[in-house]
Amino acid sequence: MPPSTTPTGVSAILSASSSSSSSSTPTRSALSLFALPSRVAIITGAHRGIGLEIALAYAEAGAIVYCLDLPEKPDGDWVKVRDYVAALPPLSMASLTGQNADDGKGKEIKGRLEYAHCDVTNQQAMFNLAARIAEKEGRIDICFANAGILSGAEVLDYPGEDFKKIIDVNINGALFTAQAAGREMAKRNIAGSIIFTASMSGSITNYGMHWTAYNTSKAAVIQMARSLACELGPKRIRVNSISPGYIYTEMTKSFLQNKPDLEKSWCAQNPLGRLGNPDELRGVALFLASDASTFCTGSE
Ligand code: NAP
Repeated sequence: MPPSTTPTGVSAILSASSSSSSSSTPTRSALSLFALPSRVAIITGAHRGIGLEIALAYAEAGAIVYCLDLPEKPDGDWVKVRDYVAALPPLSMASLTGQNADDGKGKEIKGRLEYAHCDVTNQQAMFNLAARIAEKEGRIDICFANAGILSGAEVLDYPGEDFKKIIDVNINGALFTAQAAGREMAKRNIAGSIIFTASMSGSITNYGMHWTAYNTSKAAVIQMARSLACELGPKRIRVNSISPGYIYTEMTKSFLQNKPDLEKSWCAQNPLGRLGNPDELRGVALFLASDASTFCTGSE
């Protein structure tokens, strides 16, 4: 038996041709799969770096995006990105699908960025914040659990407090974020998407780095995503993780400062021979958040 989803693509063409609507105008459905019209997203660690880059991509695709991060107020760079989004022309689904704007599907969509303080290690505060956002916007469709920290120390001397801090932010914080959004999705029966930023460090060991705590935390995030995917699948909530290689952000810059040999070594360990830029993660982040990945869950 075919699955009970609304047909698009080939089956839509064939069922239209065998029904009275065979004269309907052809429309492109593939590119519009990646659009996020009026979807509501929360992204942690989105004051800068990978989180802010993904926030921009989601807002360009039409979403209302809440950037959640530690600072009480966003800085000037974040405000510039918000203002850029506000100045974007509306997204026209008609132009993506090739349909006429007057056929009822030509609604123009405008994404926007909002900012709120959060500390992902505070479970109740995360629940309250997600509830407030869902109440205000009527829904949460997308959760990008991205906040994370990285520091290192030689393993035999690894200070316990530093180890616990990394575990708290990277593991507990990721769980509390996903729980907070998942509860609001489940309450409203929304087929949402939860995405974790794990890391290649969850599957490999960064050669020459003293990152036992970080690597351990990211391995846990990968397994957490699979586990949540199985528990939340029956509620129609998808959960996936992404594991970037070395990306040039404040997090990695602090390690590379004045260490040209280290940068060379990191580049040499990558098949493309270079570091990645945060904007190069937009494609996968859009794929996982949107209807382009409706049968993708539990994937790393
Ligand atoms: P980043 O520029 O340092 O951004 C991380 C953000 O998370 C910061 O804005 C930070 O705020 C915030 N944050 C830290 N602790 C928090 C907490 N308790 N509650 C809420 N927000 C908190 O780093 P990034 O490179 O964009 O990293 C984003 C994610 O990608 C992390 O999970 C990281 O592990 C992962 N990742 C990064 C790379 C890479 O090469 N850059 C590769 C693979 C995976 P403050 O600045 O105020 O502390």
